[in-house]
This record gives sequence, structure tokens and C-alpha cells, in this order.
Amino acid sequence: MTLISSLRALHLVDSQVRGIRNRFDGAERDLKRHQQQLDTLLARRKDHEAQSRQLQAAVANLELEDKTFKDRLEHLRAELNSSSNPRQYNALRDELKVIEGKRDALAERILAQMENIEKLKAEMGAGDAPIADRTKLRDLAKAALDEAKSELGERLSELEAQRGRAASNLKQEVLEAFEEAADQNDGEALAEVTVVSVRHREFACGGCNAELPLDAFSRVSAQNDALVTCMNCGRILYMDVVPERPGAKKTKAEKRDEALEAEGM
Ligand SMILES: [Zn+2]
Repeated sequence: MTLISSLRALHLVDSQVRGIRNRFDGAERDLKRHQQQLDTLLARRKDHEAQSRQLQAAVANLELEDKTFKDRLEHLRAELNSSSNPRQYNALRDELKVIEGKRDALAERILAQMENIEKLKAEMGAGDAPIADRTKLRDLAKAALDEAKSELGERLSELEAQRGRAASNLKQEVLEAFEEAADQNDGEALAEVTVVSVRHREFACGGCNAELPLDAFSRVSAQNDALVTCMNCGRILYMDVVPERPGAKKTKAEKRDEALEAEGM
């Protein structure tokens, strides 16, 4: 097996491994993205719930305070009704007014806090639909990943074993060049040399179209299992059919073949 045919065998299985891994990676990325967005929404919901508990506790405290004022007022009114001393009466009436004023201020504070609770409830209510939607998307992404894994997990293991066998025929440096080329080129580690002009001896990389130095072409066309990579994209270069150089010296046998062809034999 030539180097190139070994690399082609490796590429065949490697591209399938990469295809399945890409599918897994894509499904994992989707799941992660939806989960992160859901986590953000849930964290906001948790904050809102904590705020709501705080506001409700504050309102309960204010109401408790109001209750003591209310009790005091009832007591003062009873005393006022039974008071026969004008000085005591006036003092009781003054205190009553002060406490009534405090109750009014307290009622405003309670009202303001109740409004805050309502606003918070509305905000939390508006968050319900996004949380439900995102949960659904997260569940779908999870199902897609599980499906891909159950459908292709076994196949991937088989292909990875095959890939290991195909790679075991190759030298370490060749394997590294292959992997680097594949990583850089979406799995397309190999490229055939394109002949731009035989006469002008112009050749290009079939992968990225970069012009190849003549030296690279010479090394590829020698087909002697030397590893030649494109300087531009890093793909490993090969040539199935090496074009004849115009004016190249031909062997006698070749000249005879051509002459026979020309005569239509
Ligand atoms: Zn190239």
C-alpha cells in the first residue's frame, strides 16, 4: 500500500468519525446554550422570589406596628370617654392625634410596599412564558442529543476502532501532518494537485487553489511516498495522473507505442 492510499483509507474513515463527532458537538452546543439561557431565567426568578419574600415580611412587620397603634388608639379613646379632668382630656386628645398621624404615615408605607409586591408579581408573571419556552427547547435539545448518541454511538465506536487500525499503518509524523491538515480544513486532509498549465509548469493545490512551487510538484509527481503538504492550507498533496512534460525525453518503447497509435494500430 502506498503512503497516499493508506492516507486515503484513513481519510475515508476519519471523515465519518468527524461527521458523527460534529453532530454530537452541535447537539451538545445546542443543549448547553439552551440550558445556560434557562439558568439565567431561573436565577432571575429566584431573585424575584427572594425579593417578594422580603417585601411580604416588611409588610407583615408594618402591619404588626399598625396593630399596636390601633390598640393604643382604642385604649386612648376609652380613657378619653371616661375622662372628667380637662387637663387630662386635652393630653389624651393630643396623644390621640399624634398616633393617628403615625397610623396614616404607616398606611402609606404599607400601600407603597403592596404596590411593589404587585409590580414584582407582574414581572414574575411575564417571566413564566419565557421559562416554559426555554424549558421546552432545552428538553428538545436533550432529546436530540440522546437520540444522536443512541443512534450513532455504537457506529462511532466501530469507526474509531477502524480509524485506529488505519492510523496504525502510518508513521507518527505522517499521522500528525494528517491530523493537522484535517483540523485546519474541516476534515479534508488531502488535496489533488491541479495542473494549471503543463507547458508553463504551473500547478496549484486542488484544495485551496494556491499556486504550488515547482519543487512541491516535482516531489508529489515522484510518487515516492514522500509527504508533501500545501504551504498555504496544509493539505497533503497527491497526484493520481502525472502529466508528461512536453519535450521530455521518451524511451524507445514509448516512441514506438506512439508511432503505432498514430498509424491506428
Ligand atoms: Zn492548499
